[in-house]
Amino acid sequence: MARTVGSSTLDPAQVKRLAEVHRGELITPGDAGYDEARNLYNAMIDRRPGLIARCAGAADVIAVVGFAREQGWDLAVRGGGHNLPGTSVCDGGVVIDCSALRSIRVDPEARSARAEPGLRWLDFDAETQAFGLATTGGTFSDTGISGLTLGGGMGWLGGHYGLASDNLVAADVVSADGRLLRASADEHPDLFWALRGGGGNFGVVTSFEYRLHPVGPVLGGLVAHPFERAREVLRFYQEFSSAMPDELSTACSFLTHPEAGPAVGMAAVWSGPVDQGEKVLKPLHDFGPPVEDTIAVVPYRAVQTMLDPLCPPGLRYYAKGLYVDDLTDVLIDATIEHFARVTSPRSLVIIQYKGGQMGRGPADRTAFGHRDARHLFVAWSAWEDPREDDRHVAWARGLAEAVEPVGAGGEYVNDLGLETEEGHARIRAGFGANYDRLAKLKAKYDPDNLFHHNQNIRPEP
Ligand SMILES: Cc1cc2nc3c(=O)[nH]c(=O)nc-3n(C[C@H](O)[C@H](O)[C@H](O)COP(=O)(O)OP(=O)(O)OC[C@H]3O[C@@H](n4cnc5c(N)ncnc54)[C@H](O)[C@@H]3O)c2cc1C
Repeated sequence: MARTVGSSTLDPAQVKRLAEVHRGELITPGDAGYDEARNLYNAMIDRRPGLIARCAGAADVIAVVGFAREQGWDLAVRGGGHNLPGTSVCDGGVVIDCSALRSIRVDPEARSARAEPGLRWLDFDAETQAFGLATTGGTFSDTGISGLTLGGGMGWLGGHYGLASDNLVAADVVSADGRLLRASADEHPDLFWALRGGGGNFGVVTSFEYRLHPVGPVLGGLVAHPFERAREVLRFYQEFSSAMPDELSTACSFLTHPEAGPAVGMAAVWSGPVDQGEKVLKPLHDFGPPVEDTIAVVPYRAVQTMLDPLCPPGLRYYAKGLYVDDLTDVLIDATIEHFARVTSPRSLVIIQYKGGQMGRGPADRTAFGHRDARHLFVAWSAWEDPREDDRHVAWARGLAEAVEPVGAGGEYVNDLGLETEEGHARIRAGFGANYDRLAKLKAKYDPDNLFHHNQNIRPEP
């Protein structure tokens, strides 16, 4: 059946039929909780689904997928609701809302955790750290485990232990034909490959199983310098980050410091033995007088929340990102020139390190594209007043365009929006050399493109 984004209207009689089998809440326009249920992290997104199915288990997901397939309902899938372009909510159609599915079971002996798709990293880390364990998760604790893992998943443990998706050992997936499939190295291995970087294209994941590692305490924090030293800081950071041990993950960020004003920060997290980390991080402390230096021995959960105040939920956000290998003069000049006229004190430039174990192995190790790019560069606008949308969006776009000529090719899949906004070529480029194999697997697992409200891979037999 042909599907067009945002086109479907729902037959109330069919919604009533669904209500007979669905255990979780079904929320429609006019219901008391409707506005809260359709809200996303990014206040720029204002989509009005015809139905929000807050699923209570895999059976509910199977039921909604079945109705969507039979009735031609437009379908979106929501995990933590953090995706900036708002792919997890659609206009007019149905949202499979996983936000009520938040249980997690840690097996300390096997060093593994089985987690439901509505969980956020804050909760995940709380449960795994009770046993001194962790896996690579997002650098903002409010982010959902689902979208982040399925698109790749970079974080403070990435250099040491790889991407979040590299630590996925199995997943339960409701496929487009309504089956509950287990994907792992031994069961549906092609689907398992596609899930680790292919985004939400292959079905609704109802359970993620992760490999855990002994983690903490860690050595982590932020060293900030005045904006006037930005050129020196970036040159230092380029050299420092080009030869880091795997145990160290870093990010460099332009921000407006609450007391010191415009600043350039270098955030670092060392997850190896603390005494070794102190030696490795010494150059960061020695690099001139900072406006702030918070690097200290702290519990892992402290570094997982240290950046939260920079990006609270409910603001208006727009971001444009691209992979880069080096912090070239073109990148440094463009970033300094743009940040000097940044349009909001909440806006940032983030250069997130993607080396170490995140960069190892062949390009097709998993579906995650651009494994070998060393950094993710993101121009990030954040503001409050909807009347100012245009100028803040233009600022982020302008910076990303200025850096694009020295990019490594491609963008992070999780930063991309719908095909109608990005165009097919950008989405294809996000998956890099893995796109053609993904398109064939899409034809096998979702030939009618039921799961299209995402960074969409077109089914190609
Ligand atoms: C403040 C902020 C910080 C971030 N930091 C990082 C970071 O450190 N590292 C990093 O890698 N990324 C980071 N991201 C990007 C992040 O990976 C994406 O926003 C990701 O989509 C968030 O996942 P979610 O479940 O919250 O998203 P949602 O908006 O709920 O979902 C996004 C998409 O994921 C798919 N999806 C969600 N749940 C399921 C499911 N159960 N089954 C199948 N498909 C599903 C759907 O296609 C959906 O459209 C950050 C984003 C923000 C806004």
